[in-house]
Amino acid sequence: MERAFNFNAGPTALPEAVLKKAEKEWMNYNGTGMNVMEMSHRSKPFEEINNQANSLLRKLLNIPDDYEVLFLQGGASLQFTMVPMNLLEEGKTGQYVLTGAWSEKALKEAKKIGHAEVAASTKDGNYKAIPSLDSIQPSKDAAYLHITTNNTIFGTQWHSTPENLEVPLVADMSSDILCRPIDVSKFGLIYAGAQKNLGPSGITVVIVKKDLLERSKDSLPTMLDYRTHANNSSLYNTPPTLAIYLLKLVLEWADSLGGAAALEKINREKAALIYNEIDESGGFYNGHAEKDSRSLMNVTFTLNSQEATDAFLAEAKERGFTGLNGHRSVGGCRASIYNAVPIEHVEKLVQFMKEFRTR
Ligand code: PMP
Repeated sequence: MERAFNFNAGPTALPEAVLKKAEKEWMNYNGTGMNVMEMSHRSKPFEEINNQANSLLRKLLNIPDDYEVLFLQGGASLQFTMVPMNLLEEGKTGQYVLTGAWSEKALKEAKKIGHAEVAASTKDGNYKAIPSLDSIQPSKDAAYLHITTNNTIFGTQWHSTPENLEVPLVADMSSDILCRPIDVSKFGLIYAGAQKNLGPSGITVVIVKKDLLERSKDSLPTMLDYRTHANNSSLYNTPPTLAIYLLKLVLEWADSLGGAAALEKINREKAALIYNEIDESGGFYNGHAEKDSRSLMNVTFTLNSQEATDAFLAEAKERGFTGLNGHRSVGGCRASIYNAVPIEHVEKLVQFMKEFRTR
């Protein structure tokens, strides 16, 4: 069977090389006579997998030594709760920049934990853009400033990072982690569900500056306290062992390609192919995002009528393109082109877009 042209928003395509390696090791991982799923999380082979995943992520994102790398469960959605639980001190405010549905959800959860408010928002413009950096001024009583670096549903992405803030910057990077190099030292905490650029669902990566862990209170439930996981190499309880193994394979693959800088180059080429077709279509395809806020990961667009959009999506499906429907809350089309989506698949999609438009 042929592999699908997979444009799903997440979970989504994994690198073929990773799937093949996992298949090869499926019955007998590295001479252990068992699948990784079948071994103890306290065994030496699994400990090595866990350590390798940790150090590869450190290498690929150039994570400084004064940061902890944690592998947690509960998805990015649990981080909407854990961030304020651990970092939102009493008498202070969690400040949120709203750039889409996921930042709205993050704010909603923070309000259940303590005091949280909007620092800036592009909701009035239907989340077509990222706010300008000078419009974001965290208040004096801010505990942190929270941003969503890539807005999976609306197809926008931050292309510069707020700097010289007096408070830690917290970022949800679920849909763009490892799509390009980042300067981790500009952030206090980064979190990301793995199921787009890093591996399968079931594991969430948290990168947190060690000194921020001092904010966590002893009264926190053990599993929701970052220190529990930091003090136990993310092995306090049984971790999602298979997901961590697959994460390790994806990171090895990313490393073999040349790391974050090499991935950025190819991601820019892939995104430009689709955006150029949108721009050259004379209004046949309409991009949702403003040009300077366009995402490298999720390209959102509509056709000039609902009928045309429906016809486009139906024919695309017939041709083997999967996952092109926009999120149910906004409609239209969305091509998610994460790291593992091959450029050849993007070329095929653009060829189809041109053909459909011409016809
Ligand atoms: N944040 C962003 C930016 C996302 O795209 C998603 C999932 N699509 C989430 C958070 C929620 O992630 P999870 O399903 O892992 O809780």
